[in-house]
Amino acid sequence: MNAPIEERAHALFSPSSAYTWISCKASTAAQLGQPDDSSEYADDGTASHDVMRWCLENKTDAATYAGRIITINGREFEVDEDRIEYVQMYVDGVRDRIKAYELTGATVTMFVEQRLSIEHITGEKGAKGTSDTVLIAVWPDGRAEICVIDLKYGRGVEVIAERNYQAMIYAEAARNEHADFYDFTNVRIVIHQPRVNPTPSEWEISPADLQQWIAETAKPAAEQGMLYVESVDFVPLVIGDFNPGEKQCRFCKAKAVCPALAQHVEQTIGADFEVVAGNADDPEKIAALLDVDLLDNDRLGLIYESLDLIDSWAKAVRGRIEHELLAGNAVPGTKLVQGRRGARQWTSTEEAESTLKAMRLKQDEMYNFKLISPTQADKLLSKESPRRWKKLEALIVQRDGSPSVAPESDKRPAIVMQPVADDFEAVDPNGRLASMAEVTAIVNASIAEAVTEDGEDLC
Ligand code: SF4
Repeated sequence: MNAPIEERAHALFSPSSAYTWISCKASTAAQLGQPDDSSEYADDGTASHDVMRWCLENKTDAATYAGRIITINGREFEVDEDRIEYVQMYVDGVRDRIKAYELTGATVTMFVEQRLSIEHITGEKGAKGTSDTVLIAVWPDGRAEICVIDLKYGRGVEVIAERNYQAMIYAEAARNEHADFYDFTNVRIVIHQPRVNPTPSEWEISPADLQQWIAETAKPAAEQGMLYVESVDFVPLVIGDFNPGEKQCRFCKAKAVCPALAQHVEQTIGADFEVVAGNADDPEKIAALLDVDLLDNDRLGLIYESLDLIDSWAKAVRGRIEHELLAGNAVPGTKLVQGRRGARQWTSTEEAESTLKAMRLKQDEMYNFKLISPTQADKLLSKESPRRWKKLEALIVQRDGSPSVAPESDKRPAIVMQPVADDFEAVDPNGRLASMAEVTAIVNASIAEAVTEDGEDLC
């Protein structure tokens, strides 16, 4: 039985899941009662948000908290060099922005991790969301701008500010919260994902356009979603209520058990997969497979569009099966086994060290001395001693990345490769450059001639 809406700790239609509930109206109902395993990545991000809050509230730098251990959902995260560097980039970005506003004559007020009501957007009683940083800049002529600055700590997919549903909801919630005191003429959305891009992504929208989007897109989606939530115990969801897609399904808790996503995967690869998987053990049928058309590049391209979605679905299904087995529930065709043993480690480093010393081992036998990497040298010297860093920089080489497959929409320029057949050129007996296909034809012709002349196969 689902908990009554008022009793739930988190908003059902939260800003962070806005893309999911706006794109797939059945998703909120489908996620009710599904296991809510927090991911290590999400907890890691929460730890960085804690550091960010300490810095902005206490006017400190991230390095102040070096070595501190933050516990989130039982997992421990250290404020290490990486966290210090990336959180500081966000904090510096906020401070630079405040200075930039002030240089134009504005007075700036900052709110850090402010709880904002989103009830007027989603209709969910008492629902709130937390915006990382909200800046309100007011100029002497009465103009005011509201700016929401979101910290994304992930290093996966780059998040863009333009039409970012989560940030648009935060911006509207912040605008609504402060609307009685300011006459906002502009809304600015900034998303800073320092581990992916040192430069924040930024987008502006007028308050009127933002409210229009809320009224025409966000609000109706939440209303529709709420209808499913309220009727989920009585009216079964039908496949047409779902809308599978890479972005909306990525963080959906129903992913592993969603019938629409499973159907989407089956439709994408199903037919081809059945042909191959169903006949793999049967030599006669394998021979018959030779008559089956192999996938051409058009079909591969079509499948590629769904690969990320299929990949995340497969991970979710594995995770759900593990969850069921660990809970003692049988999943036919699967079982739990002991995984590979971890790496050996000392029970006590100090004790191991003193024992090794007592054995009179030499220093270089006991310890590994390793030269620091260019990245470590960069951190150590580039700011403190640019001159010395310049000398070292001359000693650094970096391999080009290997070519990798990306979607057509990727910002990087395409590497143009010549088809393999054109890559291999050879000189024929007449001194002319011949393609590999021509060379093969020449060789085959010579073999045929040799067989005919000698009456036996020379190969
Ligand atoms: S997995 Fe995708 S299609 Fe299924 S409920 Fe979630 S968002 Fe909707």
